[in-house]
Amino acid sequence: MLERLFPTLSRFRLAVQLLMLVVTVYGSVFVGSYMADKISNALPALSCAYDQMNGGYCVLIPTQHILHHRIGEAMVRAQQLTLTMVLPLLMSFAVFFAFFFVLGKAFCGWICPLGTLQEVLGRVGRRFGFGLRRLSADDLGRTERVRPVKWLILLGLVFLLPLLTGLGVTPHALGNPYCDVCPARIATTLLTGSTEQFAVPIDDNVKFVLGATANFLFGFIVLAALTVRQPFCRICPLLAFNSLAQRLSPMRLVKTRHDNCGKCSICTDACPMDIPEISREEGRKAYSEDCTLCGRCAEYCPQDGTIQLKWGPFSLFSSSRAYYKARVAGELPDGTVKPIKFVRAAGKAAGTDA
Ligand code: SF4
Ligand code: SF4
Ligand code: SF4
Repeated sequence: MLERLFPTLSRFRLAVQLLMLVVTVYGSVFVGSYMADKISNALPALSCAYDQMNGGYCVLIPTQHILHHRIGEAMVRAQQLTLTMVLPLLMSFAVFFAFFFVLGKAFCGWICPLGTLQEVLGRVGRRFGFGLRRLSADDLGRTERVRPVKWLILLGLVFLLPLLTGLGVTPHALGNPYCDVCPARIATTLLTGSTEQFAVPIDDNVKFVLGATANFLFGFIVLAALTVRQPFCRICPLLAFNSLAQRLSPMRLVKTRHDNCGKCSICTDACPMDIPEISREEGRKAYSEDCTLCGRCAEYCPQDGTIQLKWGPFSLFSSSRAYYKARVAGELPDGTVKPIKFVRAAGKAAGTDA
């Protein structure tokens, strides 16, 4: 029954993503605002705190708020430092890491509403024949060059500027800088029918620049997602945040080397993050900081057991020749639904050791 409804891992993941999109964007409509608030404490998500109907909660907002608002207050009342700043921050981090301990980076590949929206736009792009632009294959250096950007955004916009603002070094308008430029704020509120997050404040130059940047970023992502897979994910500070817990979580990607690795590279072609290491490397090195645990590489690797999604000792999904053959008959690794030419080419590459 389940297999009929979800014949592929991707179809099952899409169903989970759409369900989580509804939960994270419209959650309070179903469970009431009181319960949504409680869920928020257990479900840190890049669903936006500005969305009045959400059932999710983005760990990036308390991080900025606590550093921004609480530190000044805490410094004048040193005895309250632990209660007003350290404990709330630790609580946010503890809930966040507990969540990521269980799910690992599968949060990105299975739950995040902005990740889902970018994937849906990508599917629309493939459907309407927009060419796919990759950052991998002949362009491996570009994928690697983009990687530090997410760390810079996390350190600069989520930690440093709110902290400096809290200390009175930078202006008040820079107290919440990541949320001010975050495209998820506009995307998720737009899904609830509200356009108010498009408004750009004109009474403050800094706020104006931040608001205009958010609108530009949102427009750019919507257009770019039609032709580049997951354009925002590559610079998302939450991906960097997730990577901090990546090695601690039992949920992970496991790859063993196969003789064809480095020759066929179908896994990298299928990877929405264009991760080159999944075809080049093995073991820990193959599980990149950019991986979102979407599982597409495991679906498209034609070798039995070479790539697995695992939770602790349990194998949740394992690559297999039989699954691969059925999968490419319906969809190419890059998401295009035109299998015939590819099946022949991939069959040759995969069949060399059959
Ligand atoms: S990288 Fe960021 S935007 Fe992409 S799925 Fe993860 S949290 Fe969402
Ligand atoms: S698809 Fe499988 S065999 Fe090919 S490079 Fe990737 S892991 Fe190796
Ligand atoms: S390496 Fe595999 S699991 Fe990770 S993002 Fe790429 S396709 Fe998805």
